[in-house]
Amino acid sequence: MPTVSLIKCNSYQNAEASIKEAIRLIGGTEKFFKSGQRILIKPNILSAKTPDKAVTTHPEVVRAIIRIVKNAGAIPAVGESPGGAIGGAEKVWQKSGIGKVCEEENCEMLFFEKTGTVFIPSENPNNKMLKTIEIAKPCIEYDCVISVPKFKTHNLVFLTGAIKNTYGCVPGLRKSMYHKIATHPDEISEVIVDIFAIVKPKLSIMDAVVGMEGDGPGSGTPRKIGLIMASSDSVALDTVMGEIAGCDLKKLYYLNSAASLGLGCNNIKKINIAGENLNSVKLKDFSIPENFYLYLIPKPFAKFLGKFVSAVPVMDKQKCTKCKICIKSCPTNAIKLYEIPRVDKSKCILCLCCNELCPENAVAIKHSLFIRIFILLRNIKRLFS
Ligand code: SF4
Ligand code: SF4
Repeated sequence: MPTVSLIKCNSYQNAEASIKEAIRLIGGTEKFFKSGQRILIKPNILSAKTPDKAVTTHPEVVRAIIRIVKNAGAIPAVGESPGGAIGGAEKVWQKSGIGKVCEEENCEMLFFEKTGTVFIPSENPNNKMLKTIEIAKPCIEYDCVISVPKFKTHNLVFLTGAIKNTYGCVPGLRKSMYHKIATHPDEISEVIVDIFAIVKPKLSIMDAVVGMEGDGPGSGTPRKIGLIMASSDSVALDTVMGEIAGCDLKKLYYLNSAASLGLGCNNIKKINIAGENLNSVKLKDFSIPENFYLYLIPKPFAKFLGKFVSAVPVMDKQKCTKCKICIKSCPTNAIKLYEIPRVDKSKCILCLCCNELCPENAVAIKHSLFIRIFILLRNIKRLFS
């Protein structure tokens, strides 16, 4: 039975002690790495946002893990390929605070856009879209990968945790191209599971001190949760995250898919919880991303309703700085720059990369009237349930 540890942590100043305890409760560092081994720490550095926005893994969590790995005699490196790195990965790393922490701790930074890549045959038989996956070399060459996600909502796949965090092991714009090939959330979920199956993190440590609710992963609202969570089973860890967020676990498609392939446990009754009591840390009023409602409508029904169940990204003139990140990251070239960027609806596959990666939160998703009514009814139902 896998164990997920839940440790109270109300301030990032206490991150190191909380992470040490979280690891101790699942077997101690010696279970995951030995002296002399090379350890890849993979945080979530989605886009150029400061730590207070709760978009990226907090730098103090990364600092704590670097120190813990070093204290065990192993050699840490921090690696990532930010989705919003079109304007330069270094800038994104620095803005997140993780670049500075790596410099202060004298820890190597691995920009996956520059480390070289390998094409690995797909390991997920349910991924009908891709025969091979491009992965940054360190993700398969290091002795141990530690996935260090942020506890966040996700517009396309509901929640993003330890499994989805491995998507950043795909370098640069290749990530957007996979969105072009796998357009529906169920399809991109299979790609995510494939990447996860290849990277196989031995340990996952989740930053849930301050998480994100609402329109995650890039434009949601920071939400104090006060936890550090850890497990050797990323599927179990993400399942517990879903339970804390009050989600219907059946809707977390990638969890079901990963569990069906034997990659971990998504049955909350078969997961051992260490540390805090699970019921005591559940969030009663956690907001899920509004756009996700679009995908709750069964596919044939959505097709029948056509434009009545549609959505389109719209750029905010006041917030937009014309940085063009949305234009460069759009896999279908659906965005053109006029006075501000505008989306050609006929080309948009609603991958939401533009919404996710805009550093200014200037990309909102405009829903059709039917979807807005649907969202309103769901919100009313939630209020009274
Ligand atoms: S909407 Fe404006 S600010 Fe946002 S990514 Fe696009 S160009 Fe940059
Ligand atoms: S406009 Fe935005 S949501 Fe539409 S395809 Fe381009 S990046 Fe994806």
